[in-house]
This record gives sequence, structure tokens and C-alpha cells, in this order.
Amino acid sequence: MDQRGKAYIDQLEREHHLAFDEYVYLLKNRSDELAEYAAKKAVAVRQHFYGNAVYTRGLIEFTNICKNNCLYCGIRRGNATVERYRLSEDEILQSTEEGYQLGFRTFVLQGGEDPYYTDDRICSLVRKIREQHRDVAITLSIGEKERESYQAFFDAGANRYLLRHETANEDLYRKLHPEEMSWKHRMDCLRTLKEIGYQVGAGFMVEPPYQKVEDLAMELQFIEDFKPDMCGIGPYIVHHETPFRGEKSGTVEMTCFLLSLIRLIYPEILLPATTALGTMHPRGRELGIESGANVVMPNLTPVGVRKQYELYENKICTGEESAQCRGCLDQRMKSIGYELVIDRGDRFGWNRR
Ligand code: SF4
Repeated sequence: MDQRGKAYIDQLEREHHLAFDEYVYLLKNRSDELAEYAAKKAVAVRQHFYGNAVYTRGLIEFTNICKNNCLYCGIRRGNATVERYRLSEDEILQSTEEGYQLGFRTFVLQGGEDPYYTDDRICSLVRKIREQHRDVAITLSIGEKERESYQAFFDAGANRYLLRHETANEDLYRKLHPEEMSWKHRMDCLRTLKEIGYQVGAGFMVEPPYQKVEDLAMELQFIEDFKPDMCGIGPYIVHHETPFRGEKSGTVEMTCFLLSLIRLIYPEILLPATTALGTMHPRGRELGIESGANVVMPNLTPVGVRKQYELYENKICTGEESAQCRGCLDQRMKSIGYELVIDRGDRFGWNRR
């Protein structure tokens, strides 16, 4: 085995920190052997905090309307081929009720940046879910807002917020987004969310166009510094109705290696084995868990509209009913010795409010 790489992984396990050049070395010299070594350590660390439990989040994609035009995204404003939809408050509440009966104790309300969903509408929705079930965690994933809006959602009862930063490198951000979008604003949003008291999920794409190994090293440094409670990473997957049609998708191998390194950087972090991983490989989510992840996000969106929330191509799990989705993941996790649990799935050490 690459002894230098092995020594860096040992150091990461001990100190939760490496220098930029050391991360670059690891990423440039990834081999199956080194990745396996890192995964073994990552699994042991995850085991220490979470045992064999895999947390679930019930994902409700409630609107595919978005005012933004991110260059990689299948539901970007500029894609005229998408059939747009928006779930009503009642439909969302039906999905959360169904999810609760299936054993979900946390819901992720995810959508594009849809102006119809004003702060008042989001607050009303959050309050109603909270009235429905006091013991659930409510997660919002509805993009960039101002502090007042984030505060209002929090005061209404939201506990968590997911906002993928997509890249920690401003220059790369500019290549992946239209000019009117601001990397600085996005990063400020993450800091604001943390200050307000949310459990915060950040995240980035693995191997989108223009990304270099040095950019991925910056991501790892960002995790060290910012310490998000959760970090969602998935391979970039091409969508042919975007300007990046014809580009190459990212790999499962690099994504899994990064999952292991992130687990070693921040042992208590919540790490999803993403649907993007499952899309790129039939056992993608199992491989993610075996690399140190501890969260899966089954889909609770009504089946009738699921196919229309296609951020990337060939997304899996668009045809199954919610119960089937949960059952399928249950079996998959059991097959590798893990267990889906009925739990809010807070980050280890988090003080619940
Ligand atoms: S990535 Fe998010 S913000 Fe960007 S276009 Fe897609 S849904 Fe909208």
C-alpha cells in the first residue's frame, strides 16, 4: 500500500486535520487499497457514535419551480422541457402524515426557489407539521434567503436547514452558476443558519465540470473549518437539458473515498448515502454506508410528480410508493448488517430544543 497515503489517513483519524497539500496527495493518489483502508477506519469511527443505526429522512420534493438557472441542474429556470408542479399545503401534510405512520421522525421539505412559497406560506406549513406531530424534526431545503426569513422559519418550528454550498471555491462557483448568483451570499447564508441555531447541512458535488483535485481539497478544509452538522455529497450527474450536456458524470469511487475522509475529519457528522450514489451504481447507497455514511433519504413525494423533480438524469426511486421506498432501503441496509431506525436522527452531541 502507498505508505505515505496510509500515514496521512492515520494522521487524519488521530488529528482530524491535514494540510492542503496532504489532502491533494491523498486525492491524487486514491487507489482501491487506500480507499478500503480509509473506509475501514471511517466505519469504525461511525460505529463508535452511531452503532449500526442508519437514520432516515423522509424527503418531500414539494415544488420543482425555481427562479435560478444553475448550469448543472435539470430543473433550472431555463429548461423549458420540464413539466412544472407545486404541491399544495394539504398534499404536503398528507405526505408527512403518511411518512409518520411509516416510521419517519424527520421530514425534509425540499424545493426550488419558488416565489409562490412566501415566508408566510412556509411558516404556516411548518406550524401545521409541528401541530401534526410534536416529536418530528422539520428540515427545510429551499435555498438562499435573508436572515429574517430563516429566523421566521426557525421561530415557526423548523429545526434543520439543508443548503448545499456546491463548492468552497468561489472561482469554480462562478463557472457552475450564472452571473447573478453569489457564492459569498450562499456562504453567508450557511453562517447565518448556524448562528440562528439550526442544525445545518452543507454539501458539494463531486467531479462536476471544471472541478480539480485541489478544489476537492478545499472542500475538505471547509468541512474542517465550518463543521456542518450534516454534509450531503454526491457524484455530479449530467442532465442533457442543461448547458453541461455532453460532460462527464462524477464517480462513485471518488465520492465514497471523500465520505470516508469526511467521517475522519468530523467523526460525529451526519453523512447521507445519497440517491445520486444509488443512481450511479446499483449498490451505491450500500457502498456509501460502507464508506462511513449513516443517513439515507427515502422519497415521500407523491409518485405522480416524482419524475418531474429530476435534478439529474435517470434518478432512481421515482416510481415506488413511499412504503416501498422505505421497505427497499430497509432490506438493503439489513443485507449489509445495518438497521433503519425510527428516530429523529440528530447529530451526536446535538442539544435538542
Ligand atoms: S440547483 Fe437548486 S437553485 Fe439551482 S436551479 Fe436547481 S433547484 Fe434551482
